Amino acid sequence: MIDIKSLTLPELQEEMEKIGEKKFRAGQIYEWMHVKLVDSFDEMTNLSKGLREKLKEQYELISLELVEVQTSKIDETSKFLFRLSDGNVIESVLMKYHHGNSVCISSQVGCRMGCRFCASTLDGLERGLKPSEMLDQIYKIQKWSQERVHNVVVMGTGEPLDNYDSLLRFIHLLTDEGGLHISQRNLTVSTCGIVPNMRRLADEKLQITLALSLHASSQEKRKTLMPVAYKFDLKDVLDACRYYFEQTGRRITFEYSLVGGVNDSSEDARELTELVKDLNCHINLIPVNPIKERDYVQSDSRAILNFKNKLEKSGINVTIRREMGRDIDGACGQLRKSYMDTEKER
Ligand code: SAH
Repeated sequence: MIDIKSLTLPELQEEMEKIGEKKFRAGQIYEWMHVKLVDSFDEMTNLSKGLREKLKEQYELISLELVEVQTSKIDETSKFLFRLSDGNVIESVLMKYHHGNSVCISSQVGCRMGCRFCASTLDGLERGLKPSEMLDQIYKIQKWSQERVHNVVVMGTGEPLDNYDSLLRFIHLLTDEGGLHISQRNLTVSTCGIVPNMRRLADEKLQITLALSLHASSQEKRKTLMPVAYKFDLKDVLDACRYYFEQTGRRITFEYSLVGGVNDSSEDARELTELVKDLNCHINLIPVNPIKERDYVQSDSRAILNFKNKLEKSGINVTIRREMGRDIDGACGQLRKSYMDTEKER
């Protein structure tokens, strides 16, 4: 069955013609799915019963099932666990900032990138998410919170550039003026550095922000934390970042997770400065969130501040990411992982 929520409006118009319906029906259905955010054809009340039946027979309307919500008592951050129609579960996060609500979504079920400190990759990759499954995380959260979602970050489980075609279609649907119409500038895609697809994305000339997970200031050290570095050299990754900026004019964000005793020394900060000083960028320092399967620890607060000051003194834009929802399975992929582990035990 065709996944109707992943179709663009022109594609949906073609579909309607194919099944002998008027073209304008496509606009109505599109609005039900992407603006009114309904979960079933039966809720599309301006369509005849006959048409609704026909749609049910030929199209699948993807709708995620909310399994669990955990809300932090500290900062109102909420984590959502959703079940997909094939039984897989994924997680998403809602963060409330004064500048608006931000949703972090997953792009794959699991991940095959193998970053050493990340919980999402421990069980490998199951499959990439469909555009509709990425969208519906946002739709379900907007409905649940009854507040508009302003920002979307593709920083949950999975490597978005390892699911390129679905990601691109998702971006199109999410930012489309006939849908939720989130501004491209309010969308960030985070990658571990898949060079060819970073370049492909640059060539799309979108206005989205590209975040690069850097985590180390040398190729050698990066290899110890991120296996993807064996495939793509740091120099080529940074060249791709430069290219992204040239093509889009959008400043790159570098994510740098500080791991105690591993990448948080003054020397690391100095090397990092050298690496990025000619790039129009912003560095986001993330105190690593320890996972129980690995023995990495967070940098102590003095090392974190020292690291930040060193970069700042060299004129680099830098912020320390505020930790959100520490009390609710904080780190990426931990909620899903702990849910799956207890499922297995049952
Ligand atoms: N695959 C993409 C997006 C998902 S990960 C990427 O690699 O960018 C989102 C960000 O969280 C990445 O920067 C990732 O390295 C970081 N991250 C993952 N696990 C973490 C942990 N335990 N502590 C701190 N940051 C973590």
